Parts: sequence; C-alpha cells; structure tokens
Amino acid sequence: MVVGTKESITLQPINWFLMSKKQNNIIPPLSYSVSKSYAPAPESSAHIHIEKEYGFFIDGNFSKSTSGKQFDSINPSSGDVIARFAHAQKADVDAAVSSAKEAYQRWSKLSGAQRGLYLFRIARIIQERSRELAIVECMDSGKTIRESRDVDLPLVAAHFFYYAGWADKLHYAFPGKKVSSLGVAAQIIPWNFPLLMAAWKIAPALAAGNTVVIKPAETTPLSIMFLAQIFQEAELPAGVVNIITGDGSTGELLVSHPDIQKLAFTGSTEVGKKIMRKLAGTSIPYTLELGGKGANIIFDDAAPDQAVEGIINAIFFNQGHVCCAGSRLLVQEGIAPTIIQKLRDRMETLIVGDPLDKNTDIGAINSKAQLDKINDHIKIGQSEGATLYQSSNPLPSRGFYCRPTLFTDVAQSHKITQDEIFGPVLTIQTFRTPDEAIEKANNTPYGLSGGVWTDKGAKIFKITSAIKAGVIWANTFNKFDPTSPFGGYKESGLGREGGVHGLSAYVKLS
Ligand code: NAP
Ligand code: MG
Repeated sequence: MVVGTKESITLQPINWFLMSKKQNNIIPPLSYSVSKSYAPAPESSAHIHIEKEYGFFIDGNFSKSTSGKQFDSINPSSGDVIARFAHAQKADVDAAVSSAKEAYQRWSKLSGAQRGLYLFRIARIIQERSRELAIVECMDSGKTIRESRDVDLPLVAAHFFYYAGWADKLHYAFPGKKVSSLGVAAQIIPWNFPLLMAAWKIAPALAAGNTVVIKPAETTPLSIMFLAQIFQEAELPAGVVNIITGDGSTGELLVSHPDIQKLAFTGSTEVGKKIMRKLAGTSIPYTLELGGKGANIIFDDAAPDQAVEGIINAIFFNQGHVCCAGSRLLVQEGIAPTIIQKLRDRMETLIVGDPLDKNTDIGAINSKAQLDKINDHIKIGQSEGATLYQSSNPLPSRGFYCRPTLFTDVAQSHKITQDEIFGPVLTIQTFRTPDEAIEKANNTPYGLSGGVWTDKGAKIFKITSAIKAGVIWANTFNKFDPTSPFGGYKESGLGREGGVHGLSAYVKLS
C-alpha cells in the first residue's frame, strides 16, 4: 500500500503572534510535529464517458455549431483538455431562443401538476446519477469530490424537488394574485458551482411555466451536458431547456436578444453592471447575483475551536471560489492570538491536491487565469505591507493549485481587504467593540454574506440586523437550503434566488 507523506512542521511559542519577527512580511512557519499519513483514496473516473466534442443542446437534441468555432475545456487538476465545446455565435443563439419561444407555447399551457411531474422526474434521475455527476463536476471545475458529492449534488437534486413541489401551488405561493409565467428566460451562470447554479436557475423557471436558454461558463461547460442527457431521459419536452456554450460574447448575444422576457445572471459585479446598463430602459425583469467580500466576525465569547472550523469552512470551502465566502475575518482583539494560532495549526492539516481524492480538502483552482489573479493579489497584499502566512502543504507538480493563505496586519483600505479575490485567501483584522465590528463589516462595496460567532443570542440579533448583507450565518457558515432566499445588497446584486422569493422572479403577478 502506498502511504502518503509524513511531514515535520515547526511551531513557535503560543504568543508568536505578538512576538513574531517578520522577515519580508512573511510569518515564519509553525514548529510542531504533525503526522499526516493517508493512503491515496481516489474516486475512479474510469467509468465516466466523456465525448471528445460537444455541441449545443437545442430543441431537445445535441447539435453542432453553425460556424464550426470551438473552444477547449481544461481539467484544472492537470491542465489537460477534457473536451472541445462549440462556441455559440449569433445564429446559434437565435436558434436556441427560437426553440425556447416555440416550446413556451406548449409548456406554459401545461398544468402546474404536469410541469411538477417532469421536475420530480429530473430530480430523481439526478439522485440516481449523482456519483457520476459529482465526478464530472470535479474533473471540469477542480472542486473536491467530498464537496461535489456531499454538498453540490444533494443541493442540485433538492432544488429540483423543492420547485417541483411549488409547480402546482403557485396560487398558494402568491395568495390573492393571478400568477402567470414570463416567457423565455435567458440564464447565464459562473464556474464555481456549475450544476448548482444551473439548478438554482432552471428549476424555478420551469416550475413557473417559463422556458430556458442557459449559458454555462467557458471553463465549466461539461456537467450541464450531462444534465441535458437527464432532460432527455426524463422526456422533458423539446425546447423547454436549451443550452448554448461559449464565452462572454455569447452571453452578450443572449442578453441583447429581442425575444427574451427575463434575464437571470450570476457572476462578477463587473459583468453584472454591464448587463444592467444594457437592460436599463427595457421592460425585461432581471436578477443579478454578483460578487461578495463577506465578513466573518468572531467575538471573544465564541467557542474557539468551533469558530476556527467555521473560519476554515468559510474561506477554504470550494478553494474559496464562493461568492458568499467569509473572506474577511474580524476577530475581537483579546482572542486574536489564540484564534490565529489555532487557525494556522488547522491550515497545516489541510490537504491540497487531486480533487478526486477523498482525502483532499482543497482542490484545484478553476483556471490558470484565476490562479494568476489570486497570485497577483497575494503579491499586492505583501506590497501593501500586510503579513503573509501560507501553510507548508506540498502542492501537486501539475495543474493549478494555491496553498491556503492568510494575511495579518491588514488595513481596511488595503486592496486585499476590498477586492473579491475568489480564492483561498483570508484577510484578518481585529476589533474591540461590536460597533467597530459592524462598521468594518459594512465597509466594502459588497453586501452578500456575513457570519457571527458568539454565545450570546442578543449579540447575534444586534450584529446580524446591523450588517447589510443578504445572508448572515450565526455560529455556522456556508449553509444552503433551497427553501431559503439568497442574494445581495449594494454591489452584490439585485433580487433573490431560492425559496418563494426565487419563484417570484419568474412570475408576473396581477
Ligand atoms: P463572470 O466573468 O462575470 O462570468 C459569469 C458568466 O457571465 C459566465 O458565463 C461568463 O462567460 C458570462 N459573461 C462574461 N462576460 C459577459 C458579458 N459581457 N455579457 C454576458 N455574459 C458574460 O464571473 P465568473 O468569473 O464566471 O464567476 C465568478 C463571479 O461570480 C464572482 O464574482 C462570484 O462572486 C460571482 N458569483 C455570485 C454568486 C451569487 O449568487 N451572488 C454565485 C456564484 C458566483 P465566460 O465564462 O465564458 O466568460
Ligand atoms: Mg474546465
């Protein structure tokens, strides 16, 4: 049996934080012995059938691009090409929208109960094929099998089940109102949770009687093609969901198409603003789920070990590619040395490596471009005068990887405190009073998420109601549920997905 590496790491005295002698703004490594002996436990991908080339999914069939233009999707754990995908041009976008428009005539006239049956069927097939989908998701995105198997896929199925349940109860969801569907919903999604973002958007749209044209991100177009197979298997009527692949230019064509009646976008604030400008003055309703820079606030009465687990989950879940990540740690001054030391100890135990290995805690960064962006920010942090600490874990020799990283000596004005880095990089600031914590937490252009750790219920209520964020967790982090609305304030976006709120974005009420 092959046994993993044993490492010796050095740990400094408990008050290292106060005493550490910094050199070039880098905190020296810890000095204690940790033994990490794990046999590799890779999930096999041998049984997964991936085509060499994929076309679009239009009118219930897989079709080729009209222009013949293609792009590669990469497996970020190795840098190897997984498959080639068709790059949609205007004629392809037109074909997808026209298929959705035609299908809308029939789909919108089905009873809610009939639409619900299709959604239940899709949800059940997702459950049946969930291990396969989890592996495919890891291969194309770099996320770990533990997370795609235990978090993403159960939530994908749960979203279809949840909205299947609403399909015949729209009048109960919006009592006293006449509820009608909108028409063709154009949907654009990012690469951090490819299947989950597709489920967040497709399930409520179909439940409410709309049809869909959806574009996945350029780096993660694979898993949604497996979802297309599931739509075929569930005998979803042709044209109800159409999938076009491509880059930002394909997204632009979809946003400006004259026959869409709704736009749902998840992605960066920068692109969200462009879309908002484009749709301003039109009658097309839109939801924008954008970036974030969530504050995770630890009070001195919090249980320290639970808080440290919460911090780890908040920033390192999905390699930090999470819009609602707790990427800014605010810790009460008196406990900062203890929390930071525990955090560094815990970071040393995190295994960065093969996404398909069940021992892996942090998988691959989604793309070379994203890794470059993260590394640029790490350099910027050092040049701004913040102190860098990275765990000493070994990294695989191929693929795109980043060590779990934290910065101390961080100022509110630093770029690393203000920018969404979207990687495993945490900034740490301290505070003395609850009011100072609130002020710092709210001091970014974003307003998506936050976390509070304390054993006082009253403090939870005070802090959570004072933070301007769409979702705030207390004594936990990154917990999701289809019944719960999700979305942002300020530059984190407009509208909500999930729950009845998510359904309301796909209906007209009169
Ligand atoms: P992105 O660059 O904004 O891209 C998002 C999607 O929009 C992709 O499919 C992209 O295509 C497409 N796109 C790019 N330019 C476009 C344009 N001009 N018009 C129309 N579509 C365009 O974001 P990303 O880097 O993929 O995703 C990361 C961002 O998503 C982060 O900021 C994160 O916070 C945010 N996010 C937010 C939520 C939320 O619920 N609030 C959830 C997840 C992620 P290409 O990929 O081909 O460029
Ligand atoms: Mg890829």
